[in-house]
Amino acid sequence: MSLNIMRRIKFCAGHRLHKHGGKCEFFHGHNYVADFHVTGDHVDDVGRVIDFAELKRLFKGWIDEHWDHAFLLNEADENGIHALKQVVPCKMYILPANPTAEGMATYLLESVCPKLLKGTGVTCVKVAIWETEDSFAEASIDTPSRVQEQEEWSEPMVS
Ligand SMILES: [Zn+2]
Repeated sequence: MSLNIMRRIKFCAGHRLHKHGGKCEFFHGHNYVADFHVTGDHVDDVGRVIDFAELKRLFKGWIDEHWDHAFLLNEADENGIHALKQVVPCKMYILPANPTAEGMATYLLESVCPKLLKGTGVTCVKVAIWETEDSFAEASIDTPSRVQEQEEWSEPMVS
């Protein structure tokens, strides 16, 4: 048996899609919603997989520090990165892929969640990123063991 719970985190961020060819190539932003689906195979003495407050502390803490009110850019978007570096102060986060909802969900699931949940006994198995109230993308893993630990954190660029 597994027990699944979800914690929702809301944030605002700017981005643009490198080589999109359409309007998403322009700098713009969204009011994002991130749904973190966490699974465990047992409950604690209180009857919880994990305290929702602990998930909020971990997920919201990371989002607030790195993505909230930041610009998310593809590492290949040299022009966009160069442009944002002219802005002071600047909160920018460089992703290994385009900051689509798909790319953001994948990054959170594979690179961020394993670090945040290490030692908690629970695993994040699905992340959904809502870009608008009508559209979202979801990244999920079939079994927790498929989550790979990442060696490097991408540090936010703040100047
Ligand atoms: Zn957009």
